[in-house]
Amino acid sequence: MIDTHCHLDFQEFDQDRDAVLQRCADNGVNRIVVPAVSAACFKRTINTCIRYPSLELALGLHPIFIEQRQPQHLVELDQLITQYSPIAVGEIGLDFFENRLIRENLKEKQIAFFAKQIIIAKQHDLPLIIHNRKAHDECLQLLAAQPLRGGIIHAFNGSVQQAQKYIALGFVLGFGGMLTFDRSRKLRRLAEQIPLHAIVLETDAPDMTVSQHQGQRNSPEYLHYVQQVLADIKGCSLETIAETTSATAKRVLRL
Ligand SMILES: [Zn+2]
Repeated sequence: MIDTHCHLDFQEFDQDRDAVLQRCADNGVNRIVVPAVSAACFKRTINTCIRYPSLELALGLHPIFIEQRQPQHLVELDQLITQYSPIAVGEIGLDFFENRLIRENLKEKQIAFFAKQIIIAKQHDLPLIIHNRKAHDECLQLLAAQPLRGGIIHAFNGSVQQAQKYIALGFVLGFGGMLTFDRSRKLRRLAEQIPLHAIVLETDAPDMTVSQHQGQRNSPEYLHYVQQVLADIKGCSLETIAETTSATAKRVLRL
């Protein structure tokens, strides 16, 4: 299986990264996409991915740190993409959920940085890994403005109609640990309605843990819990979930 979204470069894994990756291999997770979040951490993400062959690098500027962004970061991103050939540009996007991120002119700044990174991805012919909260319509508008390589809408939690629009633009939807909670009824219904061939698995570790490890650090070795709940939702075998989601991830990310 492929964990299409995991921050394995974060310091939460500094003590036991080798052991975590060993347990991933034991649990059938043999490829992990590690998206960057900040220019200050680009080198850490790059070096972690160089060190471990099962990790795939993505480079981008996350909207959550929008206050700190400077135009120079985009220049740096562009140069590092040329130098290190990541598989995608990410994670990038819009976060209109947190009040902190939409006050004053930050909404406009988020849109500007997202739009510029879409152009960078297009210039390098790369897919996108997108973070989006409460801004799907704005996001869809930006993505539809020009032909792109598609990509992944990470931790998707929009409507079925929005999902269909993303799929029509060549994107697939990432589902993770939230699906394992019984209270996630709306999200489970969404996963039921979206065709399996448009779904990829992810953990977003160390964040967003599975119900089985509530209150603990999330880890890519728990991806099978997401696989299990998706198999229950779709009424198909674990093998079908593993094969279909891996094939989708490989296709979209050209692995
Ligand atoms: Zn993330």
